Amino acid sequence: MEPSSVEAAPAPSSIDRDYAAAFPRSQALFAEAQDLLPGGLTHDSRWLEPFPVFVERAAGAYKWTVDGRRLIDYWMGHGALLLGHNHPAVAAAVARQLEQGTHFGSSHPLELEWARLIKAMVPGAEQVRFVNSGTEATQLAMRLARAHTGRPRVAKFAGHFHGWHDEAASGYRASFGVTASTGVPQAVLATTIALPVGDEAALRQALAAGDVAAVIVEPSGGSWGAVPMDRDFLRLVREETRRTGTVLIFDEVITGFRLAPGGAQEYYGVDADLVCLGKVVAGGLPGAAVAGRADIMAYLAYRDPEWNRTKKIAHQGTFNANPLTAAAAVATLRELADGQAIRRAAALCRALGEGLNQTLAAAGVTGYVYWQASMFHIALGLEPPPGAQGEPPAGVDPAVLERLSKGTGTIALRKAMLLEGVDLMRSGGFLSAAHTEEDVAETVAAFGRALQRLRQEGLV
Ligand code: PMP
Repeated sequence: MEPSSVEAAPAPSSIDRDYAAAFPRSQALFAEAQDLLPGGLTHDSRWLEPFPVFVERAAGAYKWTVDGRRLIDYWMGHGALLLGHNHPAVAAAVARQLEQGTHFGSSHPLELEWARLIKAMVPGAEQVRFVNSGTEATQLAMRLARAHTGRPRVAKFAGHFHGWHDEAASGYRASFGVTASTGVPQAVLATTIALPVGDEAALRQALAAGDVAAVIVEPSGGSWGAVPMDRDFLRLVREETRRTGTVLIFDEVITGFRLAPGGAQEYYGVDADLVCLGKVVAGGLPGAAVAGRADIMAYLAYRDPEWNRTKKIAHQGTFNANPLTAAAAVATLRELADGQAIRRAAALCRALGEGLNQTLAAAGVTGYVYWQASMFHIALGLEPPPGAQGEPPAGVDPAVLERLSKGTGTIALRKAMLLEGVDLMRSGGFLSAAHTEEDVAETVAAFGRALQRLRQEGLV
């Protein structure tokens, strides 16, 4: 399956002109931001040429820009808001906690309730340590694996993203061999091996060396499934890590509670030794966790003085399990526990994906939309696999999928969709239980009009 090119077209002038006219206050704020924030931004993914939109309010499936425009939101807090913006139960829990205090500098009952819910929902979560972001979670999981095995290196897969810390800085941007960031010492980069996805021989060879503490993986495939990974390969990773005493870390920062109440472990029927949870686990506030085998988590616990001095992992974090986040998290996980909201978001995502694929076909535009639970990806320029209904495209070079998701057409599509009142997250997005069938229908209609525009511009 060879994708056609979407990159050769010239800059989409009429879309850019209308975009600037529609979001003038955003443009002005972005100009102000240049002096204050490097690049005018606080997160690389929020970059959009010539300027991103600024948002001042959100509720349910919507957010409102400073220009007074309502957007159907498919960012959903970078995937954190599975219940939608300002879910009443979550907002009420946070408001109640605000009255009780936001930081005790002490242990508190809500952290137990939070951990109990994680234990009840996530397979193999024998113990939980709270941290503040997905990045911190993968960093801690890697350290735990090294402490447990006494081995120095970590293996990951090309194109899989595990946060922005130094040890996760290699192999997630095409071409996957290179670091995604300057400023990371070679010695640190050398501790992480980036393996080609699906390459059994490379996996076996890496683990045979005996110096790999952990294999860390985005179980859905790189970039939350944009570059899919085969279930059988995931099983093989489990078998090979078990056989070699290597810790298997599932990075479920996105898939946790989204694929199923038990995340990717439940969804794929493959168990991990450690799970990194972020986003949804913290109910839309900053927070994350590492959960898993008690014998590995034990490296965080105090024991006798000799152990404390020589073996224990040092771990702090001013805002770990802060009460405000804990309140939001407990309210969120209670809502998610029966799986209903998860299934609702997934059903809406399927309806959206099917609608988008029908629209592509009707417009005669080459492209394919695929989805998993409540996450979807739009690959303009990719030939739809014959007979496929949303399944991830198999056998496509990961570098090609990566390139398609960043092609000129995709960036123009984002702006054309913003003009239609829809905020796509780069080349796809996240559904929440707060989206409605009407939102889906509106999005599909908007997509049809946006494709027309892209065609007029010669971009598809
Ligand atoms: N792992 C994965 C799979 C992610 O998608 C992300 C963030 N998108 C992270 C880790 C890092 O999480 P955070 O942004 O909370 O540091």
